[in-house]
Amino acid sequence: MTKPKGRTPSLLSQSNGTPATHTCGKATPCDRCQATVLKGTICFRVPKMASGFTNHPIFCVDCVAAIVEQTKADLSALEETVRQVQSS
Ligand SMILES: [Zn+2]
Repeated sequence: MTKPKGRTPSLLSQSNGTPATHTCGKATPCDRCQATVLKGTICFRVPKMASGFTNHPIFCVDCVAAIVEQTKADLSALEETVRQVQSS
């Protein structure tokens, strides 16, 4: 096995991309809870692949917090699976 080159990819950077803070230029509904994020308010843009092109729906801070929690839970489950495979 050759040593992989470059930066280790993360699941976040590979699949959907990393959420980035974004200041709303106009009132925009949150993609998840539909709450309106007012103009000038910080929200998050989360790149999302849909049928070959990338969308950038925005999410309010509360929804991003929930998404981050879910990501952690998914990661822990994946971590556990990887550990089981490694030790088998
Ligand atoms: Zn929301």
